[in-house]
Amino acid sequence: MAKKSILELLGGVTRFGRLTLIGEGEPYPSASRPLRRGRFLCDCGQIRDMMPSKVRQGVYISCGCAQAEASRKRFTKHGGYRSPEYRSWNAMMQRCHNPNSTSFGRYGAKGICVAPEWHGPEGFKRFAVFVGPRPNGTTIDRIDGERGYEPGNVRWASPKVQQNNRAISRLIEFRGEAMNTRDWSARLGMGKNTIDERLRKGWSVERALTEPVHRCGGNVRKTA
Ligand SMILES: [Zn+2]
Repeated sequence: MAKKSILELLGGVTRFGRLTLIGEGEPYPSASRPLRRGRFLCDCGQIRDMMPSKVRQGVYISCGCAQAEASRKRFTKHGGYRSPEYRSWNAMMQRCHNPNSTSFGRYGAKGICVAPEWHGPEGFKRFAVFVGPRPNGTTIDRIDGERGYEPGNVRWASPKVQQNNRAISRLIEFRGEAMNTRDWSARLGMGKNTIDERLRKGWSVERALTEPVHRCGGNVRKTA
């Protein structure tokens, strides 16, 4: 007989208090036999493995943050649940770590993750400190589209800036091959930033990929 899915063990429900089922977790090692656990994403951004029976019974309604918060009111200090920064961060956690999110296919499924140090209530604070207050009309953007949401790779950006950024991470066709700028950079021994910058300035692909890099002092760097 086939094993029951965690979803079945939860009676077909994916949402319990602050917890959202996101998949099968690591089994809990027990003396007699390992106990299966579901993997849950808490609204606070923490990912935890818990036994489905306990979750179904209402023993757990959060990763533990609900109790902690009740005594410490930790969220309200740093922007709180309703702040623009929190909403952006929560949406980012969902599309990267919740397979039921409508955007998961374009993020989590492609290996785009949120850095572990940005998970959980403390992670939200670190994220908020890193990116700062969200300016009107912006959303969180990854500077390098091939990397995840991690320190050094995110910023608040308007849709227009994000569109330009995507245009640059697209495949560049040259000499019968199509590669992104990172791969062209490796192939030609040329800085990726140089290529990106040239394309951003509106240079032709041919010129961007072939013109030698002019250094201070007039030295010309070899490009092959
Ligand atoms: Zn939590």
